[in-house]
Amino acid sequence: MNIVVCLKQVPGTTDVRIDPETNTLRREGIANVVNPFDTYALEEGVRLRERYDGKVTAVSMGPPQAEEMLREAISLGADEAILLSDRAFAGSDTLATSCALSRAMNKLQEYDLIICGRQTIDGDTGQVGPELAEWLGMPFVAYVSRVGEVTDGHMRVDRMVEDGHEVVEMPLPGVITVVKEINVPRLPSLRGLTRAKKATILIWTAEDLGVDEKMVGLVGSPTTVVKVFFPQRVHQGEMLEGDPESQVDALIETLRESRIA
Ligand SMILES: Cc1cc2nc3c(=O)[nH]c(=O)nc-3n(C[C@H](O)[C@H](O)[C@H](O)COP(=O)(O)OP(=O)(O)OC[C@H]3O[C@@H](n4cnc5c(N)ncnc54)[C@H](O)[C@@H]3O)c2cc1C
Repeated sequence: MNIVVCLKQVPGTTDVRIDPETNTLRREGIANVVNPFDTYALEEGVRLRERYDGKVTAVSMGPPQAEEMLREAISLGADEAILLSDRAFAGSDTLATSCALSRAMNKLQEYDLIICGRQTIDGDTGQVGPELAEWLGMPFVAYVSRVGEVTDGHMRVDRMVEDGHEVVEMPLPGVITVVKEINVPRLPSLRGLTRAKKATILIWTAEDLGVDEKMVGLVGSPTTVVKVFFPQRVHQGEMLEGDPESQVDALIETLRESRIA
């Protein structure tokens, strides 16, 4: 079973600073990490390879420093890694990102399953997985919390829904996004770390993908960040006076009024 796992490098902090001029992230001085949800995607890919043989290919689109993250993916069990990196990809929104990733999948050709994380911790949209499936015209299941048997070109998965689980059977090749409940990612092995050090990370450019440059980067992005801001915290409290009983009455009255308002 050949599996492709999509990983994104994200800032390893929740203390995100935005450049007010450009509305983009200020990355200086911030260490980058693998998007946490993608570590579960990778672990599931490696477990499936251990069950059914084949290989795991880690793919990321990002700046050259994302190569380090892909080495980490190899230390955690990926067999090979590809970085889509080109100035033409800069400023891509989710549609342009998924477009470039889909072209990479077309170039890879031989795969049965693509696994993404459910969302990133920076962009946070959760759009790339489903968009990727749409570009490729493939079946898609979101929020997968368990991968069951793979037989006769079909895979059974559990997906998390609000009040329980759904069991879905999907034909392969297909795309899934996974939740953190799916597994416990392993730590890198010594052998993995040695492999990662020596591994060659393939770099694919827009030209390598044969992608029309109008479909990626800023020009290929139908959405634009108009404004980025932190919500203002309003600290508003009212102290209730009197004995406990009258305080409870006053509280109920206040709640009633706020409901009517
Ligand atoms: C309106 C808008 C405008 C933007 N403009 C810019 C901009 O000008 N400049 C800029 O740098 N960024 C910009 N971004 C961010 C950029 O679009 C996202 O980084 C990218 O599209 C991924 O989206 P996401 O982080 O929401 O991923 P999600 O959809 O939340 O990610 C889901 C999963 O998809 C996979 N995935 C996501 N991104 C990648 C990737 N790059 N490589 C491999 N796998 C991936 C991962 O498995 C991930 O867990 C913009 C985003 C939006 C919404």
